[in-house]
Amino acid sequence: MKIGAHVGSSGGLTTAFERAQAIGAETIQIFGAPPQTWRRRKIQPEECEAFQAGMKESGIEPVFLHGPYLINLATESAEQLKKSTDALSGDLHLASAIGAKGVIFHVGSHKGAGFETRLPQIVKALQGVLKDTPDDAWIILENSAGQGGSVGSKFSELGEIIQGVGSPRLKVCLDTEHAYAAGYNLADKKELAKAMREFDTEVGLDKLVAVHANDSKIPLGGGVDRHENIGKGHIGRAGFETIMSHPAFSGVPLLLEVPGMEGEGPDKPNVDILKRIRKKVGAV
Ligand code: FE
Ligand code: FE
Ligand code: ZN
Repeated sequence: MKIGAHVGSSGGLTTAFERAQAIGAETIQIFGAPPQTWRRRKIQPEECEAFQAGMKESGIEPVFLHGPYLINLATESAEQLKKSTDALSGDLHLASAIGAKGVIFHVGSHKGAGFETRLPQIVKALQGVLKDTPDDAWIILENSAGQGGSVGSKFSELGEIIQGVGSPRLKVCLDTEHAYAAGYNLADKKELAKAMREFDTEVGLDKLVAVHANDSKIPLGGGVDRHENIGKGHIGRAGFETIMSHPAFSGVPLLLEVPGMEGEGPDKPNVDILKRIRKKVGAV
């Protein structure tokens, strides 16, 4: 079980490794381009080579990309859908070029129209993206907190998308805060076991390729996306001991997306807490 974090890459993708080393991250997630924009990074072969060399030298891997927040495959707008699939395709090409595992992204929001209404569109969009992009880059759906009609707060929704698309390139990243906010009590041993059984039935545990390890500013079932530092939120340190003890997470990389003790994003204190828990519970 590798422990790492989302790290910045401004000043060049390879700078992510220095930031990772500074906080002791063993695995990382980065943005391919500023996440609030549609603009995708131009793939420069030299930069990609340097990135792969940096990965090898530092031993920091796997690497994941996180797609832009603007993506919405459940949108009613044809224009936004096109921009979304273009952005996702762009990041998948980049992921392949730099040796990242794939692109983690939020499916989007149906804004009240209903999940089932937009499911065929989501499936078709993903099938199109799969056809246009390299086979070695995963499309990684992230579960949502459920606010504003966001898709994927229930494991069954992720499962329906994956079954509809029918490709082994589709995977899932489980965000602990989003799951907790969506009503899955991962902090409780019995409820966690139940949640992971549901995940296995609806999605398949073999699809779980990453975890966003975030504590929650809001209570169980609060339905809102608000990350907290590990041990400072409603999941709590004991909750993370419970989570990291569960066999479903063995061998799955954990990526912090927490505010940080100084408010500057994932930091060494948060990485160290997870490492201490990993040691305590004997997670591998
Ligand atoms: Fe995310
Ligand atoms: Fe997340
Ligand atoms: Zn989040």
